Amino acid sequence: ESCKLSGHVDECCNCTYQDVDRLNAVVQPLLRQLVRTAFFRYFKVNIYCDCPLWPDDSMCSLRACSVCECEQAEVPQTWRREEEEGWCNTNQCAAELDSRVDSTVDPDTALRLLNLKGWRGFNNPWMAEPEGADDYQYVNLLINPERYTGYAGEHAHRIWNAIYSQICFQQQSPSPATSSFSSSSLPTISLAVPTISLASDQMCTEKRVFYRLISGMHASISAHISANYLLDEERGLWGHNLTDFRKRLGSPELRYRVENLYFAYLFVLRAVTKAGPLLARYEYVTGLEEEDAATAALMKQLVELPELRPSCPMPFDEGRLWKGSDGLALREELRSAFINITRIMDCVGCEKCKLWGKLQTLGVATALKVLFSSSDCSGTLPTSPVLSTLVLERNEVIALVNLLERFSASIEYYRHLSEELQALEGAE
Ligand code: FAD
Repeated sequence: ESCKLSGHVDECCNCTYQDVDRLNAVVQPLLRQLVRTAFFRYFKVNIYCDCPLWPDDSMCSLRACSVCECEQAEVPQTWRREEEEGWCNTNQCAAELDSRVDSTVDPDTALRLLNLKGWRGFNNPWMAEPEGADDYQYVNLLINPERYTGYAGEHAHRIWNAIYSQICFQQQSPSPATSSFSSSSLPTISLAVPTISLASDQMCTEKRVFYRLISGMHASISAHISANYLLDEERGLWGHNLTDFRKRLGSPELRYRVENLYFAYLFVLRAVTKAGPLLARYEYVTGLEEEDAATAALMKQLVELPELRPSCPMPFDEGRLWKGSDGLALREELRSAFINITRIMDCVGCEKCKLWGKLQTLGVATALKVLFSSSDCSGTLPTSPVLSTLVLERNEVIALVNLLERFSASIEYYRHLSEELQALEGAE
């Protein structure tokens, strides 16, 4: 049972922290296997794009920050062939295919079109327009794990500050005055839409949900750093660092960060469950037939877990949002803010952090797309069943599942490290 966490996860339909821990014990082994498969371990990403926001931007030169790209031969043959054949790599092509995937198309045809659509995350209303396809590289996520890199200080704070300033307002720390993260260091950035500014006591449910998603993602990154820390550079020794953990997540006054992690986990889990029928039928094709069959079987097992059936945990009820008369305007406001966050990721000054930052924001954007968007981005509010027109591209599927695995692993890290910390503090 979770150390120090008791009661219900706010905004999550009567789920207790213990429910989540029990659920995660079933979900995590499947996710861990899934992200090791060929389909889920190769992510195509542009990490060398320029930062549009600050002229003095620079990349860190620490060894732990660098990303090792895939050799051509390592990239799944089927994916390479599709690209060599000039596969659907343009917005126009994606839009054409999209227009053919409507509710009159039978599910199998829709699925084939979906798989034809390429990989990038086009037509995701929560993402900034992608850059040219040539700037993307394949990265093997398993040999570039999310862990301590040494990226910190003013540069990293500038990014977090810019991110939080998009959706809110003020840090929900019990003692913001003592935080090293002061709003006076807010950067001057030029983004498409003015940032939302609201005092937290005026924060409506929708804005709180967005804040908690970002804060939960931040907490997950922190958990991965503390649990996979460079303990001895000379000897290349990695392990967990309890002092670092206490500073980032382990102290009682930081409980709100862990609560947001649990919330974010349930939110993404809800999206995966809702997209379950689509994910179960998706074609996981890399050319490695046996492995692809195992990937499909694992995914089916995950989305059909009896533990994921409604009642509790019904992880998150998205039907509660955007209800008021200003629902549409609010959704547009938050959509613009989130798109800005995806742009801010281009400014992360450490390649590996940028890789995982980009993957995770695409994962969140995909969860938002599944839960809230009509896929055509026409401005109409989602109707049910949204899945009849939902199209997910390869990178979106990869990002969504890897994101859930990150959050799931972070919950485990938190449980173990907080127990260790308690034992240590009890012994002192
Ligand atoms: P930070 O984590 O930088 O936090 C800054 C401030 O934000 C805190 O002082 C606090 O006021 C507030 N805050 C912290 N956590 C939360 C939360 N969960 N919710 C709400 N507010 C919070 N470093 C690595 O070593 N490896 C990585 O893979 C990595 N990935 C990164 C990805 C991104 C997108 C970014 C922006 C940074 C990444 N970093 C990574 C850097 C890392 O997140 C920290 O910025 C760095 O370790 C310095 O930590 P810090 O203790 O100063 O606090």
